[in-house]
Amino acid sequence: MKKTAFLVILFSLLFAFGLQSQGLNHFVPFTTDYTFDEFGNPDKCGYDAELAKRLLETLGDHWGYGYADLLADLQRWRTSLYVTVDSIGASVQNRAIWELTITASTTPVQPRRTVYIHARTHPGEVQSFWVTDEIINILLSEDAFAQQVREACVFYIIPMYNPDGVELEYPRENANGIDIESNWNKSPVQPEVAVLRGRFQQLMNSDAPIEVALNMHSAYGTVRYFVYHDAVGTSAEFADLERAFIEGTRSYFPGGIQPWNYFISWKSGTATQYPESWFWLNFREKVMALTYEDMNNPAAGQYDRTAHALVHGIMDYLNRGSSAVFSNTNTQPLDFAIAHNYPNPFNSGTTIQWRQSMIGQADIGIYNSVGKKVIAATSAEDFAGDHALHIDMNHLPAGVYFYRLSIGGKAMAVKRMVLVR
Ligand SMILES: [Zn+2]
Repeated sequence: MKKTAFLVILFSLLFAFGLQSQGLNHFVPFTTDYTFDEFGNPDKCGYDAELAKRLLETLGDHWGYGYADLLADLQRWRTSLYVTVDSIGASVQNRAIWELTITASTTPVQPRRTVYIHARTHPGEVQSFWVTDEIINILLSEDAFAQQVREACVFYIIPMYNPDGVELEYPRENANGIDIESNWNKSPVQPEVAVLRGRFQQLMNSDAPIEVALNMHSAYGTVRYFVYHDAVGTSAEFADLERAFIEGTRSYFPGGIQPWNYFISWKSGTATQYPESWFWLNFREKVMALTYEDMNNPAAGQYDRTAHALVHGIMDYLNRGSSAVFSNTNTQPLDFAIAHNYPNPFNSGTTIQWRQSMIGQADIGIYNSVGKKVIAATSAEDFAGDHALHIDMNHLPAGVYFYRLSIGGKAMAVKRMVLVR
């Protein structure tokens, strides 16, 4: 957009606001930062000031969920055996930035895998909170999956990263009028940015560094998507991992989340202003740091399905997942069939390796994401010990697959793998 055109729109908006918001006594900032990043790429949240204003009118005070609502929910969440609530620091106006720690109440044998989720950097994107709220509900439930997740992982969750913006009803900014999503590389550093960056650094220095970091937003449209970072701004290896993560996650909500290539960012280099930039520049492939965009639109909903997909996607990414397709299969935990495939994700073939303590030929079935068997193979050798079998999947479409390893008709392991192109 040309600067003059932008200024015309800017002043029309200020004028419109001035007419309609007589009672508005605080500063409502409008800056050019909203529309394009440092490379001239479009804003990932597709911000539209007019839509934001209308959504505030539709949803009510604080877009329907304010700081007082959060405080009430914190009281409720902290009654759970699996939740610890703490503040990681304060905002410009001295509101606490609250963090939930969710994990099993037992002491783990080895450090748990670490997942970090923060929501509502942009106050107007309240749907990012509703998805996060459903993630919390899943993590606190008593079903077997939730127990498995809590045993394996620790989730740190910030439901409201920008409490001042929420209270002031700024669509994008903190109390200083700064967008704390896209100013991680600017000085002076905003208090909220300093607090979260310090927390990330502290965890990265611990014996259980963050492996998945989700930055929850909602964009002004009617689709859900992840903001994919192109290999030009990251690496070929990371781009593969991103595709595996995104495609794996969306396989749990078919049609609900857009494919990995719906929104490609960093096509002309590494952007430096986002939380994801900080993770990439400091830790590269070690952290799957992504922005997720829900719908900032009256068509939004199905937050529970989205949360289900996200939690399962995270678990699979950490290689501790259970597959939805085989959730009713009686697979026995084994001392003898330690199975994994390498590489994973892969783009033509992969090698399944396992160890068996009994004598017998192994049957390997490969299933697609709807449970249809697409390949059947049997090992040539039957001795107890280590085995490997290469599977060629060149003829099959990209997507999520499952392999089932059985010996003597007894299912030994079911694992998930991802074919990418
Ligand atoms: Zn946003």
